[in-house]
Amino acid sequence: MMSRGKYLLRCKSARRKDIVIPNGETLIVGRSPITGIKNTRVSKRHLKLTSTDKGVICEAIGSNRAFVNGQPLVQFDKKLLLNKEVLNLIEGELEYQLIMDEKNENTATPGKEPKMVHSNHWSQGLFRAMEDPELKVLDDEKVCVIKDKYPKATHHFLVLPKEHLSTLNDLTASHTTLVEHMVQVAEDHLIKDLKDFEFKMGFHAIPSMAQVHMHVISQDFNSPCLKTKKHWNSFNTDYFILAKDVLSQIKSEGKVNTSSAMKSLLSENLVCNRCSLKPKNIPDLKQHLLKHFKAKQK
Ligand code: AMP
Ligand code: ZN
Repeated sequence: MMSRGKYLLRCKSARRKDIVIPNGETLIVGRSPITGIKNTRVSKRHLKLTSTDKGVICEAIGSNRAFVNGQPLVQFDKKLLLNKEVLNLIEGELEYQLIMDEKNENTATPGKEPKMVHSNHWSQGLFRAMEDPELKVLDDEKVCVIKDKYPKATHHFLVLPKEHLSTLNDLTASHTTLVEHMVQVAEDHLIKDLKDFEFKMGFHAIPSMAQVHMHVISQDFNSPCLKTKKHWNSFNTDYFILAKDVLSQIKSEGKVNTSSAMKSLLSENLVCNRCSLKPKNIPDLKQHLLKHFKAKQK
């Protein structure tokens, strides 16, 4: 077994964040906000990295070749990368060196601008939230439930699998029971005791935070954290993919249907979720929503 700590892939050719491969885990890396890689020759799912006691197994998933110590890694090939060895995500570019980090800490060097380590990047905040007693609601062997730190409604929870799944694109038919379990946990432990509220459960088509998370959100949207059109539309257009639709898509097609074009849904005109009113702006919408909310409480 790998003793302690984790592996880091540290970029040599540019100031990029370290990619952290936690002890004993598998990570899919590629073009994403997490790696900061924008080069379109790198697929979103470019390499599968698995840490072992000897080093990191690199498996090519994307169509463009990666290079392990100068040796090409064609699609679906695997090679072992050892401590201090070099990986290029594409030919001659994006060069990373494997570092065994035994300290298990952010490896920023004093006096130098800290390198952004995976676990300290803002997009990794949900991993930290899962350990935060103020936010953690419950967990079991498969999932963890936290309160959303910036709730967009009276009740807003996130249900996260413990299995490392970076994005919705990592979900396949094999995750059906996991997603069903996420829904069941929400129904049994979150929604059941809050009968005065209507809830929806679903996933943002293009999430900003790493690790798959299902939003469980009350439909009053009565919260000071709901501030922008983007916030509203992310829960009230097709950008919000209901858990039942995620389930039927992974069961029938083996994947969730998302595309970068769905981003445009965030700038659609505002429409109330209770009636056909089309408010001019968010303050008008929020004032209007309070009327529905108060009417329901009477
Ligand atoms: P999205 O990635 O778009 O599905 O949304 C991420 C959700 O995580 C948002 O609703 C945020 O309010 C919430 N969030 C962001 N940072 C944290 C954090 N550190 N702890 C808990 N929730 C967070
Ligand atoms: Zn209305």
